[in-house]
Amino acid sequence: MPSVLTSLRRQAKALNRNLRGMKAVARALASTDHPLLAHIIPMRRCNLACTYCNEFDDFSKPVPTEEMYRRIDKLGALGTSVVTISGGEPLMHPELDDVIHRIRANGMIAGLITNGYLLVPERIQRLNRAGLEWLQISIDNVNPDEVSKKSLKVLDKKLQLLAEHADFHVNINSVVGGGIIHPQDALVIGRRAVELGFTSTVGIIHDGDGQLQPLSGEERRIYHEMKALEKRSFTRVNAFQDNIAQGLPNDWRCRAGARYLYICENGLVHYCSQQRGYPAVPLATYTREDLRREYVTEKSCAPHCTVSCVHQVSIFDSWRAPQHSAPPVPAAVPADELVQIK
Ligand code: SF4
Ligand code: SF4
Repeated sequence: MPSVLTSLRRQAKALNRNLRGMKAVARALASTDHPLLAHIIPMRRCNLACTYCNEFDDFSKPVPTEEMYRRIDKLGALGTSVVTISGGEPLMHPELDDVIHRIRANGMIAGLITNGYLLVPERIQRLNRAGLEWLQISIDNVNPDEVSKKSLKVLDKKLQLLAEHADFHVNINSVVGGGIIHPQDALVIGRRAVELGFTSTVGIIHDGDGQLQPLSGEERRIYHEMKALEKRSFTRVNAFQDNIAQGLPNDWRCRAGARYLYICENGLVHYCSQQRGYPAVPLATYTREDLRREYVTEKSCAPHCTVSCVHQVSIFDSWRAPQHSAPPVPAAVPADELVQIK
């Protein structure tokens, strides 16, 4: 249980975060000329090796902190509302707290996606002091197996530490699909998250080739039970997942490259983690013209897309600015270094 002081601090921070979130929503509705959410990768390396994952390696070095500052300042200059630090495993970056602090110094909301393995009380306190505003851990199963070691059995102690020490919001994401062997584990994980005072969400994952496999009957049942647990979550507005669960396409306008930016460890802007390679323009030279072009560019991968964060930010513009197909911008790096999923 958190101390009274921690609870009060947590409530004050939640109020501040919610007020800033409301301001960001008002700005998003008033203007289409700035990114709402950017994912930034300070480190591609990960301490785990989930078999469905195409977003990590086991050797790369951290991006130098000065370079991270330049990228964050550029996101601030573009008017970005929220920056989520992701990986690989971002907690392996030796100066992650400074990176978080820089995001806040630019007036942006700071979030972190981690596998949670490196969380200890002192590390959580440092994240508090750095100004982290929300954190998400994705837990794949109750017991570790050959697909994933992101398991409740291993991570429950970490969740208890977060419940005790974190001033920031915590969301636990569980998954169905993509070769997860025991889909019913998602429910156990979601209920545990709610019991500890966190929000809970469910994602539908692709397999190791980035392909979406339709959910089986059992997986679909679990998925719908999980959605009921999501009541308290800020990500509730994701009805698109219902179609994906049934193997149906979605008719929507993906605003990746404009409202959502994925900044890889090399500092290139990509549509998202599953479309690395487009437009692959350095963030340092990314302009309002790039934002405006991508805002109205139709993405051929949209109908079967599972990238929920891009769906969520694109909702703000679903009612305006129809899109059209456009010739791809020449990639800035050799094609064999990129990941492009049709
Ligand atoms: S912990 Fe995350 S980044 Fe690391 S291998 Fe698993 S899914 Fe990929
Ligand atoms: S995979 Fe999804 S989020 Fe990424 S570019 Fe395609 S439609 Fe957009």
